[in-house]
Amino acid sequence: MNAPQSLRVERGTRTGQPVIISVDSTQLGPALGGCRVKPYPSWREGLNDALRLSAAMTAKAALAGVPYGGGKTVVALSPGTAAHYADARRGDLLADVGEIIESLDGRYITGPDVGTSPDDMTIIGQHTSHVLCRPASAGGSGDSSAPTAAGTLACIAAIRERIFGGRPARELTFAIQGLGHVGSLIADNLAKQGASLLVADPDPRRRQLPSRWGARTVSPEDLLTSQADILVPAALGGILTPQLVPALRCRAIAGPANNQLSDDSVANLLHARGITWAPDPVVSAGGIVGSVAREINRLTKPEVAKQLAAIGDRLGIILDESARSGLSPLDVAQRQIRERLAHRH
Ligand code: NAD
Repeated sequence: MNAPQSLRVERGTRTGQPVIISVDSTQLGPALGGCRVKPYPSWREGLNDALRLSAAMTAKAALAGVPYGGGKTVVALSPGTAAHYADARRGDLLADVGEIIESLDGRYITGPDVGTSPDDMTIIGQHTSHVLCRPASAGGSGDSSAPTAAGTLACIAAIRERIFGGRPARELTFAIQGLGHVGSLIADNLAKQGASLLVADPDPRRRQLPSRWGARTVSPEDLLTSQADILVPAALGGILTPQLVPALRCRAIAGPANNQLSDDSVANLLHARGITWAPDPVVSAGGIVGSVAREINRLTKPEVAKQLAAIGDRLGIILDESARSGLSPLDVAQRQIRERLAHRH
C-alpha cells in the first residue's frame, strides 16, 4: 500500500480522543470517505484501518467514475469509553471531528460509516460544510442504503444479461447473506421480481423477514455453500477465502459487502473455477454515486436513478473485458483504476 497523500492524527481539543484523517488521494478531486467511530485497543490500530479504508475509497471512487478521491476518518476511542461517547459527550466528539475536517479546506469530505449516522453528520455539519448524508430534514441525502441496494441490483441485472443469457430474476435462485439495511432492500426487490431466495442472518430481529418474501432460511454457516445461481454477500468482509472457493455452488457472486476477498489471490481462484465475481468496489458504489449526484450535483430523482443504473453498465464493461482478455474481473478493475488515476479522468 502506498503512503497516503496526507495524514492527520490529533487529539480532539474537547475530548482528547485520537482523530485520524487519511487523505489517500485527491488526484481526481476532493477525497470522499466516511467517519468511523469505534473503540480500538490502541490508536495505532485505528490508524491502520484509516490507511486501508481510505485507499479502498480511492479505488471505489475511480471505478465509479466520479471526480473524487478517497479518504477516511477514524476516531479511535480508547477502550471502555464507547458508551460515554455514544451518549453524554457525543456532541463534543463530533464537534472535534468537524473542526479538524474544516481545517483541511475541502480536501476531504466526510459521511456516515460504522459507528456514525446521518444525524451525527448534522452535528459535524455545524463545524464544517464538507459533509454528506445529513438527514433529508437537514438538507442532506440521508441514509445511503437505498442507493447502495439500487447499484447492487443494477449489477445483478448486468450479470443476468452476460452470464445467464438474459434470463429474468424469476428463473434464478439468489443466496443472500445478511438482511440488514441493504440486504433486506435487495431481497425485497428480488422477491417482487419473482426470484427464489435463500437467506441467512443470525440477528433474531430479522427472523420475520424471510416469510414476507417466501424465502427459505438457511443457517449462516450453510448459506455461502448453498446451491444458488447468484450469491449476494450483504453482511461481512473477508468471506471469500481460498478454502471456501472449492466448496461454492453458485455461478456468480455480486453483493454490496465491502472487502469480500480475504486476499486478492481469491479473485483468480474464483475465475479459474468459472465463478464470476463482481468486484465489490464496483457493486457497492451506490452510496457515493447517489450522495454526490443528489447533494453536490443537485440532480433530479430520475437523473440520480440513471447514474445508479450506470453502475451496472460499469460492471458490464469489466465483465466484457474479462471475457475478452481472459483476465479476472479484479485484474480488469485494477487496470481501470491505474488508468483513471494516471490520466485523471
Ligand atoms: P447492516 O449492519 O445493516 O446489516 C448487516 C447484516 O448482516 C446484519 O443484519 C447482521 O445481523 C448480518 N450478519 C452478520 N453476520 C452474518 C452472517 N455470518 N451471516 C449472515 N448475516 C450476517 O449493514 P448494511 O448497511 O446493510 O451493509 C451491508 C454490507 O454492505 C456491509 O458490508 C457494508 O459495509 C456494505 N456497504 C453498505 C453501504 C450502505 O450504504 N449501507 C454502502 C456500501 C457498502
